[in-house]
Amino acid sequence: MEQNYEYALVFRNHSYGYEVQATAKLFIPNVRFLICEDGEIPENVPNYIMTSCEKTANAITCDVEIQLGTSRVKRSCGILSTEHPTTAPDVKNSEVEYALCRLLYETLREMTDYTPPWGLLTGIRPVRKVIQLLEDGYTPEEAARKLQERFLISDEKMQLALDTALIQQPILPHSAKEIGLYISIPFCPTRCSYCSFVSHSMDSAMQLIPDYVEYLCREIEILGGIIRRYGLHVQSVYIGGGTPTSISAPQLRQVMEAIRTHIDIASAREYTVEAGRADTITEDKLRVIQEMGATRISVNPQTLQDSVLEAIGRRHTAQQAVDAFLLARKLGFDDINMDLIAGLPTDTYEGFADTLQRVMALEPDSITVHTLTLKRAADLYGTNQKQHVAQVAKMAELSAAALPEHGYRPYYMYRQKNTVGNLENVGYAREGKENLYNILIMDETQTILGAGCAASTKLVEANGKITRVHNYKFPYEYINRFDKLMEKKHEIEEILQRMQEGGMDAAKE
Ligand code: SF4
Repeated sequence: MEQNYEYALVFRNHSYGYEVQATAKLFIPNVRFLICEDGEIPENVPNYIMTSCEKTANAITCDVEIQLGTSRVKRSCGILSTEHPTTAPDVKNSEVEYALCRLLYETLREMTDYTPPWGLLTGIRPVRKVIQLLEDGYTPEEAARKLQERFLISDEKMQLALDTALIQQPILPHSAKEIGLYISIPFCPTRCSYCSFVSHSMDSAMQLIPDYVEYLCREIEILGGIIRRYGLHVQSVYIGGGTPTSISAPQLRQVMEAIRTHIDIASAREYTVEAGRADTITEDKLRVIQEMGATRISVNPQTLQDSVLEAIGRRHTAQQAVDAFLLARKLGFDDINMDLIAGLPTDTYEGFADTLQRVMALEPDSITVHTLTLKRAADLYGTNQKQHVAQVAKMAELSAAALPEHGYRPYYMYRQKNTVGNLENVGYAREGKENLYNILIMDETQTILGAGCAASTKLVEANGKITRVHNYKFPYEYINRFDKLMEKKHEIEEILQRMQEGGMDAAKE
C-alpha cells in the first residue's frame, strides 16, 4: 500500500502530529500523507517531512528534515529551560509544539518560496483569536502585534481580522438564553460543479419534497416546544440550504407558517431566507417571504459572467440574477445580500473585477466574497495551482480594497482548511446590515437549534463546552427515520436542563 503515497509525515519522539500535519498542509494541501509514528523514514515514498524533538538536560531540540522532489533540507532549533536551568521538563508542551511547527513552517517557506498570507495560523477562525485578546484587555494594536509576532500573519490579513473583530464585538450576544434558529431546505435545481454541500438536485429529489416539508414542519413544532420550555429567545432565524427557494411558493409558505405558529420570533433581530439562485426566485416566493416576516434575503449570483455560470452548471444568466435582485428591491426588500465566489472554474481576475463592479453598482446591503481553491490540487510544484492561488488571492485583495471604499465593512470571516493559502470567506456589509447569524455560526459562542436534514444543533454551555447534535444527512433518511431522530431531542433537552441549572440567565463571560 505504501507505494501509493507521494508524501510521508514522520514523527519522531513527539506527539504533536496533528499540528505538524496542519502546518505541512499549509504548503502541501489536498494530499494524503503516509503517517509514520514510529519515526522511521519510509524508503518507497518520494517526499517526506520528518519532525523530531530531543530532550537533553536543560534544553529541547526540534529538528526537521524535508525531502521534496530532489531537494533535501535539515534544520534545527533549541528551546532552553528558563526556570530550571538544569532540566527541560518545565518547558510547556504548547511551546515545544509551537517551536516545532514554526521551524517546519520556516523551512517549508524557504523550500517552496511560498508565504501563506495567514502565516502559521491554521485555525479557521482568526477573528475569534482577536476577540479573545480584546476580551483579555489588550488594545486592538496590542492584540494585532501579539498575533502577528506569534503567527507571522501578513499586515493585510491582520488588518482584515482586526477590522472584522471590532465590528463583531459589540454585536455578540451576552446571554445563554439568546439563540439562533437554522432551518434547512437542502434542495437545488441543479448541482453546481464546485458544490461541497449536501444538496440534492431537484430531478432526483423532487418526489421527496412534499414529505420533507411535512416532517420539517413537525420538527419545527417540536423545537418550538423546547424553546418555550427553556425560556429561550430566538435572536436570529436563518432558512438556508441548498436553495430554500427551490421549493414551491405554497411549500415555502407552509414552512414559514410553521415557524410563525410554533416559535416566538417576535423579538428576533433578523430573519433571513437564502433565496440563492436566480433560477428559483419568483415574485410569488418573494411575496411569501415578505408576508411571513423575513427581513433579509440573499440573492447569490456567484458571478455575473455568463460563460462562468454555464461552466459551473447553473441554469441562469447573469441578467436573471440582476433581475431577481431588482425585483426584490421593487417589492421592498431593504436588506439583500449577494454572494460572490472568487476563483470559479474558467473565471479570470478581469471577470471577477467586472462582476464585483457590477454587483456594487446594484448597491446590495451586503456582499459576501467566498474564495474557491482547487480541491484536487496538483502538488506544490504544479504551476497551475500556484497561478490559480495567486489569482484568487488577487481577487480577495481587490474585494478587501474595493468594498470598504464603497461603504461595505468586513463583519464576518472564516478560512478554508486544506487549500493552498487557506484563503478566507468574508462577509462585507453596510453599517447596521451585518448578519448576526453569520457571525454566530463562526463565533461559536451561541446556541443554535437546527431543523431539517443536514442541520445540526449546537449547544454552547457557559464554560464554553460545545455539544453538536446532528440530524440525518439525506432527505430520505430524515423522512424514514424521523422518529429515531426525535430521540436526539432528548439529548438536546438534557443539555439545556444542565445549562438551566447552571444559570442560563447569567451574562456570559
Ligand atoms: S446552489 Fe449552492 S448548495 Fe446548491 S448546488 Fe450550487 S453550490 Fe451547492
